[in-house]
Amino acid sequence: MAKRNTITKQLILDSLKNSKSAVSQEILQKELGEAVDRATIYRVLNSFCEDGIVHKILGDDGKYYFAICVNCSEKKHKHNHFHFRCLSCGKIECLPNEMEVKLPEGYQSVNFNGFISGYCKDCSNSSLFKQQ
Ligand SMILES: [Zn+2]
Ligand SMILES: [Zn+2]
Ligand SMILES: [Zn+2]
Repeated sequence: MAKRNTITKQLILDSLKNSKSAVSQEILQKELGEAVDRATIYRVLNSFCEDGIVHKILGDDGKYYFAICVNCSEKKHKHNHFHFRCLSCGKIECLPNEMEVKLPEGYQSVNFNGFISGYCKDCSNSSLFKQQ
């Protein structure tokens, strides 16, 4: 059982790493197929979040998406970047720019939930878009 668990974790981690955009639980389920059940995916994703391997993004569609962390660890799991959803191809990406948000004196930030929707680089450059 433990061995199987490790394989499942590795599978989920691989598909998160291979995906250039953030993925939802549904997308992962489709990729992994029947072999891994919903509850397991949920549990693995949450343990990755706790370990500082992935972070959760609440999309403007009300669904959660998961993306690989670049500079996080178990102790320091902090995200000050915006997430971007493309209205054309639908992918959700982490924007690389770290944002420094100035808060009023005495305020302390714990969670940053910035979300932008628009058109990604690929879609803005596509010929279809230029014709409009
Ligand atoms: Zn993180
Ligand atoms: Zn796009
Ligand atoms: Zn992100």
